[in-house]
Amino acid sequence: MESWTIQKLLNWVTEYFTGKSVDSPRLSAEWLLCYALGIKRIELYTQFNKIVGQEQLLQLHELVKRAGTHEPIAYLTGKKEFYSLEFEITKDCLIPRPETELLVERAIEFLRTRNGEQFICDLCTGCGCVAVAIARNFANCRIVATDISDTALAIAEKNIARHGLMNRIKLLQGDLFEPVIAGLGPAKFDLIVCNPPYVSEPDYEKLTPNVKDFEPKSALAAGQDGLDIIKRIIADASRHLKPTGILMLEIGNEQGNEVQKLLETAGCFSDVKIEKDYSNLDRLAVAVAKPAK
Ligand code: GLN
Repeated sequence: MESWTIQKLLNWVTEYFTGKSVDSPRLSAEWLLCYALGIKRIELYTQFNKIVGQEQLLQLHELVKRAGTHEPIAYLTGKKEFYSLEFEITKDCLIPRPETELLVERAIEFLRTRNGEQFICDLCTGCGCVAVAIARNFANCRIVATDISDTALAIAEKNIARHGLMNRIKLLQGDLFEPVIAGLGPAKFDLIVCNPPYVSEPDYEKLTPNVKDFEPKSALAAGQDGLDIIKRIIADASRHLKPTGILMLEIGNEQGNEVQKLLETAGCFSDVKIEKDYSNLDRLAVAVAKPAK
């Protein structure tokens, strides 16, 4: 019977994924092989000539078939790296995106300019990746993280425990700020961060199958213009911010102008800035709360 070495498998799976138009075929093949063989990525290369056993081959075969139908690799392996940290992932939450690291980076930079313990609110926390990445990189903070989905919060809870942050991140279930009032009373935040759903209905229909057919629509789509959730956050955020506190929102590719206008006309923010990501697409909106008159 033909024997399969790691090298041969890697090449075969890469080719299979290329034929099926799976995203990043080589990288996807590597992640899947690591998962099926229970090894680290570097070991794929240090054990190139190792022969893979029948049982593992069968398991891999099943995973490769599913990935060939565009099921995301992160859902198949149950994990995803974000901000150099590993997160547990299920189909109940959005898969962390590299572009969201910009939100975390700017949040940490802002926190480092402040004195004393910082109170942060993370809306639409999903798997908790933004809250966890901030808390792991900025010690003197407490975070309230909310999500409307209790199945997503169950994953966030695991990620918070996994990264040892149970005493600094509190999870609350509910619609945007709704549970914050119940949970925290009148306390106000130094920073509100959010990666909301912001895909417009027409754009949602055009998403690639690995996103559209597998990731939760409620984490992606936000009405006809994609701004439904962003508008609600802007309308409510300033009551929850300390004077000079900051709101940071991830936004869609082409939403910069519109979100800037919304923030400026809200009347309660100053210093509105839109920032582009590493692909030169609109990605972040930042606004400072005006001191109360
Ligand atoms: N950037 C993501 C995508 O296009 C959308 C993430 C979001 O809506 N927050 O898949």
